[in-house]
Order: sequence, then structure tokens, then C-alpha cells
Amino acid sequence: MSDPKPKRIVVVGAGASARIVIKLLKKTSGDNVDITVVQPNTFASLPFYQTLVLTDRETLVGNSTFAEIEGVNKTVYGTAVGCSDGQVAVQPLDKSKSVETVPFDTLVCATGFAFPVVCETPGQSQAERQAEIDQYAKVLTSGQNVVVGGGGSVGVELAADILEKLPADSRKGKVTLICSSPKLLASQADRYGEKCKEVLEELGAEIIFNDRVSSQNDSIVSEGAPITLTLKSGKTLSCNAYVAAYARGANTSWLTTAAPGGSPLPEGLLNEKGQVIVNEYMQSAAYDKLYAMAATSDRAEPSLFPNVESQAATVTKNIVKPNSTKQAPGVPNAMYQLVGHDTFGTAMPENTPLPPVCATLCCTWCGFPCNMLCPCFCLGVLFGPCDPMVCGMCCAHPEGKGLANTLKGTKDMKMMAANAGYHVKGKPGFGEEMERS
Ligand SMILES: Cc1cc2nc3c(=O)[nH]c(=O)nc-3n(C[C@H](O)[C@H](O)[C@H](O)COP(=O)(O)OP(=O)(O)OC[C@H]3O[C@@H](n4cnc5c(N)ncnc54)[C@H](O)[C@@H]3O)c2cc1C
Repeated sequence: MSDPKPKRIVVVGAGASARIVIKLLKKTSGDNVDITVVQPNTFASLPFYQTLVLTDRETLVGNSTFAEIEGVNKTVYGTAVGCSDGQVAVQPLDKSKSVETVPFDTLVCATGFAFPVVCETPGQSQAERQAEIDQYAKVLTSGQNVVVGGGGSVGVELAADILEKLPADSRKGKVTLICSSPKLLASQADRYGEKCKEVLEELGAEIIFNDRVSSQNDSIVSEGAPITLTLKSGKTLSCNAYVAAYARGANTSWLTTAAPGGSPLPEGLLNEKGQVIVNEYMQSAAYDKLYAMAATSDRAEPSLFPNVESQAATVTKNIVKPNSTKQAPGVPNAMYQLVGHDTFGTAMPENTPLPPVCATLCCTWCGFPCNMLCPCFCLGVLFGPCDPMVCGMCCAHPEGKGLANTLKGTKDMKMMAANAGYHVKGKPGFGEEMERS
């Protein structure tokens, strides 16, 4: 017999974690759950494509959704600013309104990590975000000196995206990438960082290793007089824009402030990195009404889409039936890296869930032209997003422009946007429906 009173579930955040959990909860529990989502902007842009938006190659409107998340009973537009037992405090988007509280039986923290400038900031209006993009894009695409901070996945992608926008003969030295470690993509096998370095330098980037910007915590842009950045080594750099292209920690400070009239949540909720300490059921070890996902949990695996999907399934199952499903280890690292969106991509077979022998066989030994003998692959080339060269040449590493083209194909077919719950046919977002409405 179903519970006469639906369980009140509040999901905070409107990214992939939130969207997938909501979809699965509705699918499995229907009317037994009453879901409220706390969404901090009236739009939600898909992070994957935001370096393209920031470099004026794609539009914010074309890469965002403006629809309410499918399956929610209620959307509260605002930013979570506090939490006490059974209630979240939300600052509405209209800042003249006072903080309101949203009651819950179960709370899902899906607030991701802070990535200002590259992605929208919670509470930012569409007009404010568009103005920020316009201001950066103007400088990033006009051949002025730009510094990108962070030699990780996003920094490498963004530095090349900026260079790809400039005429080939004027790229040299326009973009400086600062990497705090001795190699790019520090968590990956050496060959990937080395290959990305080679491609970036060919594009015209200068890369500084073992250093970091110390005079500036946040991204900054100046259309007029250049900005001087000081590095940890004492070196100075002059530029017109600095983009800090690395994640700035989990968005969990709202869990450490009490809601109006309430008490703070129990101590020991977060680790030293500000992540919720969770047990194997993705549930807070200190406050059992709370589940935390992706970057907001202290799970070892990185906040990548395959891990988000698998954690969302675990959270859903445990909300429906507490302590029923343990979270298995996720993928330990990214499965591919792009250098720009038109230039180069490399696949990382050892990071796929395939057993090592299969990963070598499918991704390294089998490439062009042999893969064209596989009927599924041929269909992917003819009717899907696959570039024939996605796996490179037979017996060579799966890398090159083919992977970049394939990912572009998945973008054009809105595959990632749909998988992550951003794009729903017939709902406003991702360009087409916006134009019609
Ligand atoms: C530029 C870029 C490229 C990427 N490329 C890839 C890729 O190719 N492959 C891959 O697997 N992963 C990629 N990622 C990582 C991917 O974006 C994450 O896996 C995914 O976004 C995690 O989803 P999430 O919902 O947990 O967090 P997010 O997508 O960060 O969503 C968090 C949500 O919480 C909201 N929020 C934050 N604070 C509050 C608050 N106080 N109150 C209410 N809401 C709040 C945010 O506004 C946002 O809506 C990329 C990330 C970036 C930034």
C-alpha cells in the first residue's frame, strides 16, 4: 500500500545531478514523492559547452534550458543560503524579497562546484550572465593578451578555444596558460599532458609550469588598460583578461548556516574541502536526511558525467528504500580530453569501464579503416555523430581531429543535453524552441 502522504524531497541545484535524480525518483516513485527543486537561475546552461559560449562561438541561449525541470512538483527560484533540520533557507532571485524556508523530509545536495565566469553564478540573472559573457568574449576573441589559469581539463580546452577564434597568423603568444604542476592534466598518464602541450604550443599558446597567479583570486577583464598579474614565482604578466579556469570548491556553505529560527545542522557534516562526508549509500554520515552527490560529496571519484549518473541512481534507490544500495567505485578519471573544439581530442582507453584487454582491442588496435567493417560503427558514421576517424588509425592511439568532430556531432544532436536532462523536446531551451516561442 502506498504511503498516503508523499515524501517531501527537496533537491538543491539544477545541474545534471539534480535533473537525473529527479527523473529517476519520478519514474520509480511517481506520486509517492513530492519534489521541490531549488534552482538559482531562471536558466541553466550545460557546463560542457560554456568555453564555447565564453569565446563567442556558441550562444548562451543555444546552450541553456529555460524550462522547469521535468518531473518536479514545485520549483523555488532562488539560492540556498542556509539549512536546519527539515528546512532549507532560500534567498529568492528577487533580492528585495526576504529569505523563505522550504520544508523537507529528505534533502538532496546537488549544488556542484563553483566555476565562476566559465559558468553562471547562482543568483545571476540571464541579462547579468549575458553581460558578463559579452565583456569577456570581446577581449578573449580580439587578439589581446589573455592568461588562463589552470592546466587541467577546462584550462586546456579554453586556452585552445580562444586561440581557435584568432586568425592563424596572429595567435603566437596571445594566450598564456599557467599550470601549477609540472605537467598538464596532472591526474592523467604523462602522455596525455605531453600531447596536449604539443598541440597547444602548435596553436600558439605559451605554457608556464610550476607556477600560479598569486595576485588575483578571481577572473578579471579589462577592455582598456592592461592588468598586471603577479605569479607565485615573482614573475609578472600583462594581459587584458585573466580567466581562472579551475573549480573553486564545492558549493556547500549553505549547509553550514542555520535557517531562520532553526539550529545549524550537526557538526562533522563537511570535510576540510567543504564536501559532505557520505557513507556508502551517498547519505550524510552526520545527518541522515541528507544525500550529497558529485562534487558536493567526499567520494573519491571525480565529478564527471558517468559518475553523476551512477550516483544519481544510488541516491534514488536509497531515498526510496533506505540503505538498500551501495555506491560502487566510479570512473577514476576523464575518458577523453579536448584541445579546443575544432583542433584535437584524445581518448583515454584505460579510463573507460572496459576491461583493459577490450579497451586496447577496441580503442587502440581497432581504428580506421578496420572499424568501418563494424556495422554499428558504420551506422554511427552514416546517421549518428561518429567521425570515421574517431578512433584514429588502426594500431595507433585514438586521438586527433576525429574525436573533436565526434563530440561536436553529439553536441549538435543534443545528445549530452538530453542525457543530462537539460534538453527535453518541445520545452524551451537549446535554441530551437526559444526561437519558435
Ligand atoms: C567547462 C566544463 C566542461 C566539462 N566537460 C565535461 C565533459 O566533457 N565530460 C564530463 O563528464 N564532465 C564534464 N564537466 C563536468 C560536468 O559539468 C559535471 O560532471 C556536472 O556538471 C556535474 O553536475 P552537477 O549537477 O553535480 O553540478 P553542476 O552542473 O555544477 O550543477 C550544480 C547546480 O547547483 C546550483 N547551485 C550552486 N549553488 C547553489 C545554491 N547555493 N543554491 C541553489 N543552487 C545552487 C548551480 O547553479 C547548478 O545549477 C565539465 C565541466 C565544466 C565546467
